[in-house]
Amino acid sequence: MKTVIYPGSFDPLTNGHLDVIQRAARLFDRVIVAVARKGEKQALFGPAERKTMIEHSTANLSNVSVDIFEGLLVEYVEQQSGHAVIRGLRALSDFEFEFQMALMNRSLNEKVETLFMMPRASYSFLSSHLVKEIATLGGDVSAFVTPEVKEALAGKLAQAGAN
Ligand code: ADP
Repeated sequence: MKTVIYPGSFDPLTNGHLDVIQRAARLFDRVIVAVARKGEKQALFGPAERKTMIEHSTANLSNVSVDIFEGLLVEYVEQQSGHAVIRGLRALSDFEFEFQMALMNRSLNEKVETLFMMPRASYSFLSSHLVKEIATLGGDVSAFVTPEVKEALAGKLAQAGAN
C-alpha cells in the first residue's frame, strides 16, 4: 500500500492542484492532501474551510483524503506512514525553491522522498494568489477552480464587502 502526501497551503485549491491530485491518485494507492496550518493570518480561508473545499472537489476520488497538518512535514509524513511527498512544478521559477526544500527535507529525514509532477500545460500559469486577485477584482474564475471553490470565493468576498 503506497501512500503519498501532497502538502500545500491550498488557499484556495485550483484546477492546477486538482490536476496533480488526479495524476497522483492514478499512480498511488492512497493520496493524503495535507493542508498546512501555517501562514493562517495571511490566508483568505481558514484551514478547515480549505480542507472542506478540497474534500468536496475530490469527492469522486475514493483513494484521496484531506487532512490539516502543522509542524515539520517530514514528521507528518512519518506519522502517516507516507512513502513520499508530491509537489507540483509549474515552471522553472518553482524549481529553485522546490529543489531546496526537497533536499532540506531529505537532510531532516533520509527516508522521505519528494516527487515532482507537472500539471497539464494549460494550468501551468495558475496560482491561488492570481485566482484570489481575479476574484477580488470581479473577474470570472470558472476556468481556474471547481464550482465549490468558486462559490466559496464568492461567499468570502461578499462577506468581506459587507464588513
Ligand atoms: P505553497 O505550499 O507554496 O503555498 P500551494 O499551496 O499553492 O503552494 O501549492 C502546493 C503545491 O502545489 C506546490 O508544490 C505548488 O508548486 C503546487 N502548485 C500550485 N499551483 C499549481 C498548478 N497550477 N499546477 C501544478 N502545481 C501547482
